[in-house]
Amino acid sequence: MSAAPVQRLAIIGCGLIGSSLARAARAKGAADVIVISDASESVRDRVVELGMADEVIADPADAVRGADLVILAVPPAAIGPAALALAAGLAPGTILSDVGSVKGAVAEAMAAAAPAGVHVIPGHPIAGTEQSGPDAGFATLFENRWTILCPRPSDDPAYPAAVEKLSAFWQALGAQVELMDERHHDLVLAVTSHLPHLIAYNIVGTADDLEGVTQGEVMKYSAGGFRDFTRIAASDPVMWRDVFLLNKDAVLEILGRFTEDLHALSRAIRWGEGEKLEALFTRTRAIRRGIVAAGQESAEPNFGRDKK
Ligand code: NAP
Repeated sequence: MSAAPVQRLAIIGCGLIGSSLARAARAKGAADVIVISDASESVRDRVVELGMADEVIADPADAVRGADLVILAVPPAAIGPAALALAAGLAPGTILSDVGSVKGAVAEAMAAAAPAGVHVIPGHPIAGTEQSGPDAGFATLFENRWTILCPRPSDDPAYPAAVEKLSAFWQALGAQVELMDERHHDLVLAVTSHLPHLIAYNIVGTADDLEGVTQGEVMKYSAGGFRDFTRIAASDPVMWRDVFLLNKDAVLEILGRFTEDLHALSRAIRWGEGEKLEALFTRTRAIRRGIVAAGQESAEPNFGRDKK
């Protein structure tokens, strides 16, 4: 009997996250057999070249046959359709999970596609970089990072053991696991990830549009703060388009709060209320120091700083 938490792991979509999963599972011995499927032929060819999987199978339903864990690592809006495309190959007792950056809408789509008896457990590793594709992944991506799992209401007596098994798999990759309601996940991530990306996309777009400031000056003086925004604004356009469309409600709610606070800040600047500005900047500096102290300084997106 193998000691690995998973016997046959099927990863659907082999970009940054899918290929990191495959590399980490192999490096840590978290799965006996690793099967990879990807819609793109060039990606499948590259996976074979890199020797990342035991089997590379084009048809998603064939790829998941006999797997005890299936993880969808495709862009958020593709997760539901990909789950439908592989559903015929799923057997009762199989765990169907994902790594999508949005949970509510994506979890609904996965659950709607899954046949009876399949354990649907949505997930999201809070780890990544602004890179894409099978060459971008690395085995240590999930180490000491949080992975959020969002178990769904289930009457199946075997469901809690499936959640335990998926948690054990992520822990074997070096991740810390937190269980969370999917709607709460979407609100938390709207604050910690989605809004910061929206701000970065916006500020880089604004700078690009500004008349009177040349491209040359933007490049030359970018170390003044702008450079860090450009890293975030380099994140995958398709993935982030999907995130905002699929997490619309939570993002708009947080954006409303953010806009109010921004108005308060412009008032403070207009009326010379230096003590208000200083009080906020002191509070935010303490938050940054807390993140560094908690060892999460390079969490999503970590821009490959800890790439090995
Ligand atoms: P990626 O590098 O772009 O890889 C996605 C792969 O999935 C590509 O090879 C793509 O092929 C393939 N694909 C697309 N639709 C498919 C389908 N229906 N069936 C099979 N393969 C399909 O993306 P990623 O950054 O790894 O992101 C994957 C997931 O992880 C997303 O849901 C994202 O929200 C989540 N996530 C990302 C990060 C991050 O920092 N990047 C962090 C945490 C979670 P083509 O290129 O041919 O389309």
